[in-house]
Parts: sequence; structure tokens; C-alpha cells
Amino acid sequence: MHELSIAHRVVEIVSEHVRAAGAASAAVVTLRIGALASVHEDSLQFSFDLVREGTPAATARLVIVAIPVRIWCDTCGREVDLPGIQRFACPACGTPSGDIRAGRELDVESIELVDSSAGVSESTP
Ligand SMILES: [Zn+2]
Repeated sequence: MHELSIAHRVVEIVSEHVRAAGAASAAVVTLRIGALASVHEDSLQFSFDLVREGTPAATARLVIVAIPVRIWCDTCGREVDLPGIQRFACPACGTPSGDIRAGRELDVESIELVDSSAGVSESTP
């Protein structure tokens, strides 16, 4: 299961980050996931709940920011966001394009920490 290994990796990153920052745990973990990353949000949430037990991510809220596919349109001369991944063509003028500029993201964007003195601070890994 693809999502399970991603969840494992996310928990690892969070744990390392919490340890390195000398914090108590993570409050919020924000992920950026592109439409082309083939990640099922519900499965990832479910997997995350499974693997985080006993880690600094145990009580963290998982926030998933969905990134649309963005292609370069030669006709319009600009980058355009696609409404879906069925058709790689400019939604404005219909020109097909395989020049993908965004949508493959699978990153931890930010980790909000709960430090030992119970304060919350935001930082980027
Ligand atoms: Zn266009």
C-alpha cells in the first residue's frame, strides 16, 4: 500500500524534526500533495493514524494541501492549472501540453510544534 509507506516516511520526518527542535510533539503537520502523486487522501489519513501511535506525531492534526496539475500553454504563453488529470490540455484555449510545471508534489510543507513549555511554534523542516 503506497499510502502506508508515505505515512511511515511522514512520521519519520516529523519525529526527526521534533527531536531536532527539542520540542515535545507536533501539533499540526501540513503536507502538499500534487494531483499526480497518486495519493488517496483518505487512505493516507488512515495510514497516518495507524503508524503514528507512540511517536511525536501521535496527537498531530494532518492537513493535506492538494496541488492541482499546472501545465505550460504555448498558445496562452503562461502556466495554467488543470481542473483534473483526465486531459492534459489548456482549459482556456484547448492546446494540448505535456509540459508539466506542478502536480507531482509530495512534501511536508510545515510542522507546527508543541514545545516543552506548551507553546506552539511553526517551523519548516
Ligand atoms: Zn492556452
